[in-house]
Amino acid sequence: MSDIYTRLVSNVLFPLQERLKHHDTVKVRQGMEDSQWWPREQILALQAARLRAFLADIGAHVPYYRDLFAQTGFDPARVSGSADLQALPFLTKSVIRQNTDALRADDAQGLARFNTGGSSGEPLIFFIGTERVTHDVAAKWRATRWWDVDIGDPEIVVWGSPIELGTQDKVRLIRDKLMRTELLPAFEMSDARVEGFIARIREMRPRMLFGYPSAISHIAGYAEKKGIRLDDLGVKVVFVTSERLYDHQREVISRVFAAPVANGYGGRDAGFIAHACPSGSMHITAEDIVVEIIDGEGRVQPPGVAGEIVVTHLATRDYPFVRYRTGDVGVLSEDPCPCGRGLPVLSEIQGRSTDFVIAADGTVMHGLALIYVLRDIPGVASFKIVQETTTLTTVFVEPGPLFEADDVGRIQAGLKRRLGDAVTIDVKVVDVVPAEASGKFRYVISRVAA
Ligand SMILES: [Zn+2]
Repeated sequence: MSDIYTRLVSNVLFPLQERLKHHDTVKVRQGMEDSQWWPREQILALQAARLRAFLADIGAHVPYYRDLFAQTGFDPARVSGSADLQALPFLTKSVIRQNTDALRADDAQGLARFNTGGSSGEPLIFFIGTERVTHDVAAKWRATRWWDVDIGDPEIVVWGSPIELGTQDKVRLIRDKLMRTELLPAFEMSDARVEGFIARIREMRPRMLFGYPSAISHIAGYAEKKGIRLDDLGVKVVFVTSERLYDHQREVISRVFAAPVANGYGGRDAGFIAHACPSGSMHITAEDIVVEIIDGEGRVQPPGVAGEIVVTHLATRDYPFVRYRTGDVGVLSEDPCPCGRGLPVLSEIQGRSTDFVIAADGTVMHGLALIYVLRDIPGVASFKIVQETTTLTTVFVEPGPLFEADDVGRIQAGLKRRLGDAVTIDVKVVDVVPAEASGKFRYVISRVAA
């Protein structure tokens, strides 16, 4: 085995690794086009070689890791695979906040500052270097090519937090490079805006739409209600990301655009972690991203067991993301995908941990348990449920034409059945359900820690 692997490493892995280090999206993507078909062991061997080089690099150049490795005696040269990461601490949002500057490589250039709302609403400031942008773009375009959409094809992105759409030129530049595309700002969704979006989509005839499922399904639902066709534009795929994709959203998007809906899992902070292939698997960008699944005590779990998704992004040497805790729940699968790609598969991504709510008696349940109550009431056009405490839940309700006075009582009764009789259900009937500060729309938010 060592002979084969030595030859493999010298003849194939190192040249590919060099190609992957190039700050050129096309070259990186071409490298990834080859490696996606390799046997899984070969992809993991490449990942291990890249992990070793990455850790040596950040140990030399990033103050936080230089100090950490010195204190703990961690030797990057001895790393032979992702299991060696277990000697290193997790990177949490609070660690990033406390070490915002010490996480920056001493030779980093052209870092772009990002500021996300985060699921807790607390802002997180971090930086993204050119290498990482290049790799995330390449990972995205490799995945869209699985769906017959190539670089340069017209694309509409339904995206955007007010922060990202601000005047930070560098952020805008990176975003344009990421997207190569026209952007529809999704954080403001008045009827007039949505009608404008639909007109623009019809005019541009994009080959792909990309963005939040809540926003795209809202546009699709609006077009359907108004009898405006969007199924004759030649859309090949609708890629949704950043939020959980609900079945009813997939159905309306797919019906209205006459195109499949593909899930992309990842975010600005964690990178483009996994993308759906036409066979239905979520393939991890394993050349660049190491995924670990951990339990509540931080212990790494084997394939098939659900736990929190933790990622190490190997193209982040300028501002490293090592064992970054995403707060999302997922399961690694060892089953080969029928599409033939050797890229490992992340199955059953169960959404943000804040999608789970906790009943007064301590029962943890998925937010869907509450969503079904609201969706069963025909008078409710749109809603958002916020679990403030175990004894208080607020429901924002946007009434539709069928809304009845009794509906408030029905919502209260339905939610009490699940959360507990003693829980106060405060129903607020509003003109427009407020989006999050980030611009994402979420149906259920729990401020109660699971
Ligand atoms: Zn596949």
